[in-house]
Amino acid sequence: MISSILPTYNRAPLTFVKGEGSWLIEADGRRFLDLGAGIAVNCLGHAHPGLTAALTEQAGQVWHMSNLYNIPAQKTLADKLVDATFADTVFFTNSGTEACELAVKMARKYFYDKGQPDKTDIITFSGSFHGRSSAGIAAAGSEKMTKGFGPLLPGFVHLEFGDHDGLTSAAAEPNVAAILIEPVQGEGGIRPVPDQCLKGLRDLADEHGILLIFDEVQCGVGRTGKLFAHEWAGIAPDIMMVAKGIGGGFPLGAVLATENAASGMTAGTHGSTYGGNPLGCAVGNAVMDIVADDAFLSDVNRRAGLLRQKLEGLVADNPDVFEAVRGSGMMLGLKCKATNSDVVAAGYAADVITIPAADNVIRLLPALNITDAEIDEAMTRLDKAAKAVANG
Ligand SMILES: *Cc1c(COP(=O)(O)O)cnc(C)c1O
Repeated sequence: MISSILPTYNRAPLTFVKGEGSWLIEADGRRFLDLGAGIAVNCLGHAHPGLTAALTEQAGQVWHMSNLYNIPAQKTLADKLVDATFADTVFFTNSGTEACELAVKMARKYFYDKGQPDKTDIITFSGSFHGRSSAGIAAAGSEKMTKGFGPLLPGFVHLEFGDHDGLTSAAAEPNVAAILIEPVQGEGGIRPVPDQCLKGLRDLADEHGILLIFDEVQCGVGRTGKLFAHEWAGIAPDIMMVAKGIGGGFPLGAVLATENAASGMTAGTHGSTYGGNPLGCAVGNAVMDIVADDAFLSDVNRRAGLLRQKLEGLVADNPDVFEAVRGSGMMLGLKCKATNSDVVAAGYAADVITIPAADNVIRLLPALNITDAEIDEAMTRLDKAAKAVANG
């Protein structure tokens, strides 16, 4: 008999009843060190007092407000994002997937309004992940996500990750509207796009007059040690998808865009009942106040350096289990020699949470405010897990 929850997830046998910072706690008091942060969502850990206060204060005032009216917390958050980024304008969503939908619509509408309605194709890359909606799975294009769900939304051109020649010729095609890419692939196995390639993408987009869309749903909001990952490359996209960390655990996403890229999105062309609701935006404001701060981000970078250095040691100490460390900032992957799901399971037994990704990688996406002592403790537990795997 089918379970009462649609069985689309293979769930680990773990049931947490409480979270505190970088810790997840089961009913019997067993404490797990959480290096997954809900897949980069709980960017300030669990039950952060400032976020809890922002949420409860808003909850006592008004929960839901239609976008037919002004939502002060939404305006404040949009202003903060515009001030802190390349963007001139923001649309709020409830998820990364919903941000993907708008990014695709925005790019197509841009060219439609410019009198080039055939420019609808969007170039994407193997190993990418853009959500599970019809546009999201068609964008990523992997068989794993698309099989059985056809007919797929047309208009995506799939290239191999790193295929420079293919990209140069694909971008020159007359029907191309945009290039869509994650500056650091998350689900694909923590694969950063080198800074010079991000610069090259910007140049290519400019050369052909097409739009550059970054999916920073996983790598954004301080994750790599800059507010947004593309900042390391010194370039900016035309459109950017954000979600996960921006809500610190409350469902919140956003599409950020330049005035030019957003020019097709006039009144009535798009909407969302819950997008930008007062509760989500109250938390988003609290997240931005903490994360969009140079002192905070420099501390993230310091701790990320410490974490990476210790992970290099872990890999060296466990050569049968791990192959290499990769990633950027607090978005790190351990490429495994053992089977990644075995390492994740051994982590559970050692009371530490990591997240599997493609390419036989385990992901470490800790809260950005994980402490030095917790990083040390994480190494002890990961080492125990690795030894358990190595000893079969
Ligand atoms: C998680 C993720 C999405 C989808 O976000 P949801 O909130 O799950 O809809 C899209 N893109 C990337 C890069 C992601 O990591």
